[in-house]
Amino acid sequence: MSDCLFCKISRGEIPSRKVYEDDEVYAFHDINPVAPVHFMLIPKLHLDSLAQAEQQHAALLGKMMTLAPRLALEQGLSNGFRTVINTGKGGGQEVFHLHIHIIGGGNIPPMVKRD
Ligand code: 5GP
Ligand code: ZN
Repeated sequence: MSDCLFCKISRGEIPSRKVYEDDEVYAFHDINPVAPVHFMLIPKLHLDSLAQAEQQHAALLGKMMTLAPRLALEQGLSNGFRTVINTGKGGGQEVFHLHIHIIGGGNIPPMVKRD
């Protein structure tokens, strides 16, 4: 997926504010944050969304889940944070490269508004 926005960001072809990088994953600040801290953690491997995840990706996804709290802490979110994975059009996904949003600081509202 050479023309994928997040693939290009993870390869450094499009600039981003890097939070973390290793050989398998890349984390960077969201360009349009919804909270004082808002960054995304992505696999360098292109997957359109969580719907494409299979058993062979379990170790990579597990690594991302355990990395997320470490990076959140490094970004100052010692009081907690929210993780969001939007999946597919029905999940409000806009960029079709799997990503975990990590959001915190300020006043985080309930995830789902109940009237
Ligand atoms: P989604 O709605 O797909 O879960 O989230 C996509 C996120 O990517 C949005 O929060 C949006 O602000 C962010 N985003 C879109 N384009 C760029 C970009 O070029 N750079 C960065 N850093 N974030 C982007
Ligand atoms: Zn991609």
